[in-house]
Amino acid sequence: MSDFESLELRGVGRRFGGVDALAGLDLTIKAGEFVALLGPSGCGKSTALNCLAGLLPLTHGEILIDGRRIDTLPPERRGFGMVFQSYALFPHLSVEKNVAFGLQMQGVARAEIDRRVRQAIALVKLEQHAKKLPGQLSGGQQQRVAIARAVVLEPSLVLMDEPLSNLDAKLRLDMRTEIRRLHQSLGLTTIYVTHDQEEALSLADRLVVMREGRVQQVGTPDELYESPASWYVADFMGYRNILPATVVSVSGGGSGAEAVVELPGTADGGVRLTGRAVGALGAGDQVRVAVRPDDFSVVPADGAATGAAIPGTVAVVEYHGREHAVSVQTGDVMLHARSATPPEVGGAVRLTAPVERVLVFPESLDAVVPLEVAA
Ligand code: ATP
Repeated sequence: MSDFESLELRGVGRRFGGVDALAGLDLTIKAGEFVALLGPSGCGKSTALNCLAGLLPLTHGEILIDGRRIDTLPPERRGFGMVFQSYALFPHLSVEKNVAFGLQMQGVARAEIDRRVRQAIALVKLEQHAKKLPGQLSGGQQQRVAIARAVVLEPSLVLMDEPLSNLDAKLRLDMRTEIRRLHQSLGLTTIYVTHDQEEALSLADRLVVMREGRVQQVGTPDELYESPASWYVADFMGYRNILPATVVSVSGGGSGAEAVVELPGTADGGVRLTGRAVGALGAGDQVRVAVRPDDFSVVPADGAATGAAIPGTVAVVEYHGREHAVSVQTGDVMLHARSATPPEVGGAVRLTAPVERVLVFPESLDAVVPLEVAA
C-alpha cells in the first residue's frame, strides 16, 4: 500500500539544448491510482517518468508528496519501484537472488528477505522457476521477475516505462491482466508509460495524453474515449477516420453545436457531412472530422439512409471474427468502417454515421486547453 495520500507535479519541465522535452506538466495523482501517460514517440513520456524517478533533474517546476518536495531527493531516497522495457535483470543471479537484491542492499534481515521474496515470487506465479537464471526464462517470465523485484520493496509508487513492448502479442495481453491484478491486489500507485492506446485504456484509472512535451487531455478512459478534446486525442482513442474538412455552416452555439462540413477530394463537388462541433467553430474554418470505424454503417448505394451518407467503393474487406473491417475508397480518401456482413469488393456503397458520433474539431491543436488536472 502507498504510504502517502497524493503526489503532485507542478509545472514540471525538462529542457534539452533549448528544446522542451517536457513543458509544464501539472498533475495530481491519488494514492492507489493507476495513471497512464500516453502519446507517440518523442512526446516526453519517458522524460516525465525519469524526472519522477529522480534519474533526470528538473529544469523547472516541483514534485511534491503530501505537500513535501521530493524533486530534490536522489532516486534511492524517493523509494519508488521501477520496471523498464529492458528487464535489466542480473544475468548471473537466480530469479530469487534477483528479487532479493534490493532488500539486501537495504540491510533487511535474512528471515524477512526470505519471506518477502517467496511472497513476491508467488505473486507473479514464478514459484517453479525461482532457482533458474534469467537466461533460462521466456521474455514474459523475465518481465515478471522485474515486476517482483520492484514490488518486493513495497514501494510507495511504481513507475513502468513500456514494460510490455518487448513481448509478443499474446504474452502482452496476459501480462496486461497480470499487471492490473497486481495493482488491484497490492493497492499500489502506478504510473505507466505507453504509446499503445489499448494498453492504456484497459489498465489505467486515468489517462494523460501528451503531445510535444505538453498535456493534451487528462481523464478516465471512458471520458477520453467518449469525449476527446481534440482530433489528436481522438486519433489515440480509436477514431481511425480523421479527415480534413471545411465548415459550411454551424447551427447553435459553442461546443455541441451541429456543424455541416465539406470533405474535399471525396466525390465530385465534395461530400457534406453533419457532426457535433467540439469547440467554437464558424463557417469557412478548417477542421478535422473524427469518426470511429464502429460508428460508420455500410449501406448499399441505392439503399435508404438517414443523416449524412458518403458514397464510395469497397476497396478491402478483412475478416475479424464476428465482424468485418471494411475499407471504402471515396475520391482520394480511404475510410474505415465495420460491418457484420461482408460487402462485395468493388461494389458501390454509402457510409452513414449518426450526427452525434461525427465529431468536428478545430484543425489547430494550439487552442486546446487540458480539461482536467485535479484528481
Ligand atoms: P519514446 O516512446 O520513443 O521513448 P517518449 O515520449 O518517451 O518517446 P522522451 O524520451 O521523453 O519521449 O523524449 C522527449 C524528447 O526529448 C524527444 O524529442 C527526445 O529526442 C528528447 N530527449 C530525450 N532525452 C534526451 C537527452 N538525453 N538529450 C537530448 N534530448 C533528449
